[in-house]
Amino acid sequence: MDLIYWKDKAREAGFSEVVELKMETLVVNPEVRKMCEANTCGQYGKNWACPPGCGDLEECESSLSVCDCGLLVQTVAQLEDSFDFEGMAAAGSTHWKNFSRLRSQIQEAKAKKGDSLDVLALAAGSCTHCKTCAYPDDPCRFPEAAASSVEAYGLLVNQLCVDNGLAYNYGENTIAYTALFLFK
Ligand code: SF4
Repeated sequence: MDLIYWKDKAREAGFSEVVELKMETLVVNPEVRKMCEANTCGQYGKNWACPPGCGDLEECESSLSVCDCGLLVQTVAQLEDSFDFEGMAAAGSTHWKNFSRLRSQIQEAKAKKGDSLDVLALAAGSCTHCKTCAYPDDPCRFPEAAASSVEAYGLLVNQLCVDNGLAYNYGENTIAYTALFLFK
């Protein structure tokens, strides 16, 4: 696994910040899953990529444990003010585009190399690939395009950022979205 190569690719994909993940900082915290269950985002039990559809915490932890190395990435954007909801949505959309671009490149490389390259990619927020998620009546329509969030896997994003030398908050009138690419 050439992590330096994928670090460069992550920057080319548009991410503002890219760091190699310290694998020991991947600490699954049951309290994060409880935050999902509180359903402040309204997506709990509504999306295959969110809890409980994405699997219980033990399954998520098991998927994380087979990864060897990874990249922690962020899209950071300037807002006009703290009520700039349009700017926040635009930054979220840019983050998703950056995420999809890099993941597609990794998936293409995997198709060429076979099983020697695989990735678990975790994004920010619920999966919005379909207008309405197929959960729970039908299986996920696009498993290759769906993405769970870092939080859905029980990882506390601000702690993960701090532990890997990244800021979580870039100051007044900014927003940062975080994602994780884990290679197996
Ligand atoms: S790809 Fe569609 S069906 Fe699958 S998790 Fe995302 S929104 Fe739901």
